[in-house]
Amino acid sequence: MSEEKSLNFLEEIIEEHLKQGTYKSIVTRFPPEPNGYLHIGHASSICLNFGLTKKFPGYTNLRFDDTNPETEETEYVDSIKEDVRWLGFEWKHERYASDYFGSLYQFAHQLIDKGLAYVDDSSSEEIAALKGTPTEPGKDSPYRNRSVEENRDLFTRMKNGEFPDGSRTLRAKIDMAHINMLMRDPILYRIKHAHHHRTGDEWCVYPMYDFAHGQSDSIEEVTHSICTMEFIPHRELYDWLIQQLEIYPSHQYEFARRNINYTVTSKRKLLQLVNEKYVTGWDDPRMPTISGLRRRGYTPESIRDFCDRIGVAKRDNMVDVGLLEFCVREHLNKIALRRMVVFDPLKVVITNYEQQEEMLLSENNPEDEGAGSREIPFSGEIYIERDDFMENPPKKYFRLAPGQMVRLKSAYIIKCEEVIRDSDGNITELRCTYIPESKSGHDTSGITVKGTLHWVSARHALEAEVRMYDRLFRVEDPADEEGDFKDYLNPDSLQIVNRVYLEPALQEASLGERYQFIRKGYFVLDRESGANSLIFNRTVGLKDSWTKKGG
Ligand code: ATP
Ligand code: MG
Repeated sequence: MSEEKSLNFLEEIIEEHLKQGTYKSIVTRFPPEPNGYLHIGHASSICLNFGLTKKFPGYTNLRFDDTNPETEETEYVDSIKEDVRWLGFEWKHERYASDYFGSLYQFAHQLIDKGLAYVDDSSSEEIAALKGTPTEPGKDSPYRNRSVEENRDLFTRMKNGEFPDGSRTLRAKIDMAHINMLMRDPILYRIKHAHHHRTGDEWCVYPMYDFAHGQSDSIEEVTHSICTMEFIPHRELYDWLIQQLEIYPSHQYEFARRNINYTVTSKRKLLQLVNEKYVTGWDDPRMPTISGLRRRGYTPESIRDFCDRIGVAKRDNMVDVGLLEFCVREHLNKIALRRMVVFDPLKVVITNYEQQEEMLLSENNPEDEGAGSREIPFSGEIYIERDDFMENPPKKYFRLAPGQMVRLKSAYIIKCEEVIRDSDGNITELRCTYIPESKSGHDTSGITVKGTLHWVSARHALEAEVRMYDRLFRVEDPADEEGDFKDYLNPDSLQIVNRVYLEPALQEASLGERYQFIRKGYFVLDRESGANSLIFNRTVGLKDSWTKKGG
C-alpha cells in the first residue's frame, strides 16, 4: 500500500497522543474469546491492533477473553494463535482474562468495601423485571442495601461454592435510574459451577465481560483498547470501574464492525454450520474463517491488503466479497506458478508428429522473472478442453474448428483436419496436423493465429480431483433474512470435478505453493491430497464471474 495514505481516525488520535506526550509508546491488544475460529471480521481487528504498533512505538498483546467456561476450548485457543501468526503478526505477551481471576476477585472485594457492589439474591428474571426501560427508570433490588460485612461474607461464600448456579450475583451499585441502561447496577459476577479450559474447577464464580475486559486492559496497561461500535454504551461502565478501582486508566475506542456479504461473520452461526454439518469443518474452504480462507488458497498478504483497503470506519457497513476476491487475485497473479490443466478433455491426435515426445520450455510466471521456467512433455496425443473446439463456429471464433489453426501454449500451431465420432455421433477425437516450424520461441513459420489453447500430453497427464467453490449463501445478508439463516445456503457452493488432467510438473505440488491453471483460475493443493490422489481447491477464478452470473 502506498506510504502517503492518509491516517485513519485511530492513527490520528494516537499520533496526537504521542505528540502531546500523553504516551511515549502505546499498548494495544487483540482480545478474542476462544469460543470458535477466527473469521475475516477478526482479521480487520487483528490488522488494526497489530498495525498500530507496527506504525507507532509500542506493542500488542494477544489476550484471550475466556470468561465463559462452557463455550471455550483449548482447540480454539490453538487455532487463534495459529491464525494470528499466519496473518503475519506476533504478539508481545500471550495473556488470558483467566490469568486475572485472582486480581478480579480482589477488585470485586474492593468495590464491596467501598460500598459500590452488593450481592443480589434475585433471579435473572427478577433482575430484568426491575431494570426499567430506556424511557423509564429501573427500581432498586430489595438486596441493594446490604451491609458491607454481609456482602463480603456472601461474596466469599459464592466463591467458595456454597450456592447453586444462578442463585446469586454480585452487582455494582451505581444508579437504577441511570440514563444508560448498562449503568443500572450491572452484574459483575455470576455463579457457574463449570469446568474452565485453563483454571479447571478452581472457580465457580466468573466475572462478566464488563468486569473482566476493562480490568484486564488496565492490568496490562493497554493504552488504546479498541473494540467494535456495539460497545459504545459499555464505555461509561468501563471508565467507571477503572475510576472506582483507581487502577491504570486504559481507554476504549470503537470502530465499525466489518462484515462481508454472501456469508455470516459470527462465531455462533459458523459453529452451527460446523455442528450441523453444512460444511466439513471450521476450515472448510467455503467458510469465511481465516483457516477456511487459508485452505482455500488465500494468502496472508491478500487478507492484509483487503483489511487495508476497507480501512477503519465509524459506521458499520457491509463489504463486498468481490473486493476480497480482487485482493487475492491481485496477489496470486504476482506469485502463482502457471500450469496447464484440462478439466473436460477432448483428445487431439497430431497425425504428422513423428517423434515419441519432446520437452518444451514454459515460463512459470510471466509476471515474475525470478520464477524461472519448467519443462512440459509434448507428444502426438494431447488433450485440450472440450469447449475449446466448435464444429460450426461463429465468426471471430479463434479457438479450434475444422480447418482452423490455433497455437498450443508454449508448443506448436496445429490445424484441425478431421473430426472423429462414435456411433452415437459424439465427438471423441480430433485429427490435427502441426507445423514443425512454429515451435514457440523458435517460430519461423510466418503464420499468425489468434487463439492460444492450454493442453496436456495424454500419455504424461496426471489425474486429479478439483473442488470448485462458490459463495456459501445465496443472499447478501443471510443473518438479516426472515427465518433461519441456514435456509439461505447456496446448494451449489461446492462442485467436484473428477478426472481433471494435469501437466506432470504438478506431481511436485506442495501445500505452500499457489498455482494458476492457465485460463482456469487460481488453485492450491488441498490438505486431504495424497501422492496418489491429488486434490486441488479453486481459490478464485481469473475474472469476476459473479456479476455476470448473478445478473
Ligand atoms: P463473534 O460475533 O464472531 O463471536 P465477537 O466480537 O464476539 O465476534 P470476539 O472473539 O469477542 O468475537 O472478538 C475479538 C475482537 O475482534 C473484538 O475486539 C471484536 O470487536 C473484534 N471483531 C469481531 N468481529 C469483528 C468484525 N466483524 N469486524 C471487526 N472486528 C471484529
Ligand atoms: Mg464476543
